[in-house]
Amino acid sequence: MLLFGHVGITLGAGLALKKVYAGQPVQASEASPPLGQGLAAHLSYIVKQMDLRILMLGAMLPDIIDKPLGQVILKSTFMNGRIFAHTLVFLITLSLLGVWLYRRRGSGWLIVLAFGSALHMLEDSLWNGFLRTLLWPIRGIRFERLELDNYVGSLWDEFLHAPAVYVPEWIGIAVIVGLSIFLIRRKEVRSFIRNGLFV
Ligand SMILES: [Zn+2]
Repeated sequence: MLLFGHVGITLGAGLALKKVYAGQPVQASEASPPLGQGLAAHLSYIVKQMDLRILMLGAMLPDIIDKPLGQVILKSTFMNGRIFAHTLVFLITLSLLGVWLYRRRGSGWLIVLAFGSALHMLEDSLWNGFLRTLLWPIRGIRFERLELDNYVGSLWDEFLHAPAVYVPEWIGIAVIVGLSIFLIRRKEVRSFIRNGLFV
């Protein structure tokens, strides 16, 4: 999946979750529920406080890390834009750090970032051809090397001709455009840019 698919579909999932946990978003200054409370209370707090800007960042985080690293900076070593940040090890580490931060400070932003990255990995369908990467290092310490000649050209070609690529991209574009129109109509563009919340 490419940029708009990842960002738009993940954003749609975040908006749907906020709909499920309908109500006023809690302010960043509002304290989280006591640790003794049930999981549902904590999930509700995290979703209501969820900064959609962080979610969108999480939706691209695996690519933000791996594409420059594996396709540019260390291209001769990896020759692959899906490496460390596309592994379950990365996702589990990020999630555990998120839970640790939430328990310690009552701040859910790192959990939201991990959730966005989890959706990215789902959207990439890594089990389909990239299982070795997903399960790294269980199936070997080295990542596979890919054929990356004319990378941009082949992506563009897929975007134009492969339904598995262009359908999610257009869905993502529709979500982003829909949210933008909604925010413009309600004159909430500035506040969304400032706090990433959505009432
Ligand atoms: Zn990816």
